[in-house]
Amino acid sequence: MTTALSEEFLEALVTIVGPKHVLTGSAVSSRQAGGLKATPLAAGAIVRPANTEETSAVMKLCSSRGVAVIPSGGNTGLVGGTQAAEEEVALSVERMRAIESVDISNRVMTVGSGVVLEQAQQAAAAEGLLFPVDLGARGTAMIGGLIATNAGGNGVLRYGMMRDNVLGIEAVLADGTVISDMNLMVKNNTGLDLKQVFVGSEGTLGIVTRAVLRLRPTPRSRNTAFVACPSFGAMTKLLSFVEAELGGGLSAYEAVWEEFYQLIAIESGQHAPPFDAPHPFYVLVEAHGGHQRRDQERFLEMLGQAEQIGLLSDAVVAYSQADRDRLWAIRDDIPSLLRLLGTRFAYDVSLSLEEMEGYLARVFERTKLLFPDARLVVFGHLGDGNLHVTLKISDGSDAAKLAVDLIVYEELRGGSISAEHGIGIDKLPFLHFSRSPEELALMRAIKGALDPKNILSPGRVIPSE
Ligand code: ZN
Repeated sequence: MTTALSEEFLEALVTIVGPKHVLTGSAVSSRQAGGLKATPLAAGAIVRPANTEETSAVMKLCSSRGVAVIPSGGNTGLVGGTQAAEEEVALSVERMRAIESVDISNRVMTVGSGVVLEQAQQAAAAEGLLFPVDLGARGTAMIGGLIATNAGGNGVLRYGMMRDNVLGIEAVLADGTVISDMNLMVKNNTGLDLKQVFVGSEGTLGIVTRAVLRLRPTPRSRNTAFVACPSFGAMTKLLSFVEAELGGGLSAYEAVWEEFYQLIAIESGQHAPPFDAPHPFYVLVEAHGGHQRRDQERFLEMLGQAEQIGLLSDAVVAYSQADRDRLWAIRDDIPSLLRLLGTRFAYDVSLSLEEMEGYLARVFERTKLLFPDARLVVFGHLGDGNLHVTLKISDGSDAAKLAVDLIVYEELRGGSISAEHGIGIDKLPFLHFSRSPEELALMRAIKGALDPKNILSPGRVIPSE
């Protein structure tokens, strides 16, 4: 591992954060570049400030030297946003892991940006409250990264994305300026909502160091079922039906296409398959409510009605937490999917429900014309219009990937090329499929105003002209 950073610069970093918190050599390369990338991190150094003040001092130094800084949290992003090169500094928020307070009456929690999602969830639960953002990487992903990427996950349908669950943030700009907007209020219309500039900016506009998170009451009832649907139309009609019948209680509507179910529930050997016979579509339905017995009766009645009118053909209901965990384990078993498929091209798109079936048919048809052995595996957060589309072809070359990328993004016709994973480096060449030249120009203008030297995560998210 080499570094293109000078000894004198590294010494100056040490003066700010202490010798234990400027990592070089194997302490850098022993970390992964990020997400599912198994390659070593190639940053010139990792700096680990303890707080906002140290982060500000680091940024002042890097700004004066023109050294690029790539902020990172748990490194679980899937678009290459936290990769770094030998002339760049990776700034990790991992030491800012204090849960400063949990305010029960106002239902807010103040945390450092290095707090791991699961720890935030547990700290809220210990006070009888819920932090509702949840995703598979909960044991590693950090609050700062979740904010920077506006993370989504399994609770968006009911509780919104990270953007909807952050009330305040403290952030450090490229020149070291501290913007402290630790707002505690749900309502605050005092001019521009500055925190939202940083949410979803993927480290290009500032480094989030602290945050105020919004908490909710812990649901007293959870009702979960894995249901089989006879057609795509039935699956989307069932969504409307369930939403109406459960009066706002629906909290997850996770769809699984037949290929995914076959691979995970049957071929992987990791799960007891919930159904004996195959079906074209499956949905994991979960509702949160306030009264276990009444809510369960209503949930079962609703499933019965849906079956009578042909919206579902079979259903397996969870009657215990263990049942619920077993059903969710099928939906969440992405490790088995990766193992069984090997090299594959994976996408995270969103589009309207009416467009979805035709979209997938067009993508599969065009891909098969180029690669006759293509397999299409689909699952996703149907309630959010968000599909995770995976195409497995035997040719794993860069040229093949580009050809498939173009098919997947061209056919979206106005949908989003990134529903919840962000843009990072990997999706930057395709951003124009989703954003107009005027929008991209405005993004560049905002970037130029906040980071005129272009030292925060350069070459990511915002395309240069
Ligand atoms: Zn997802």
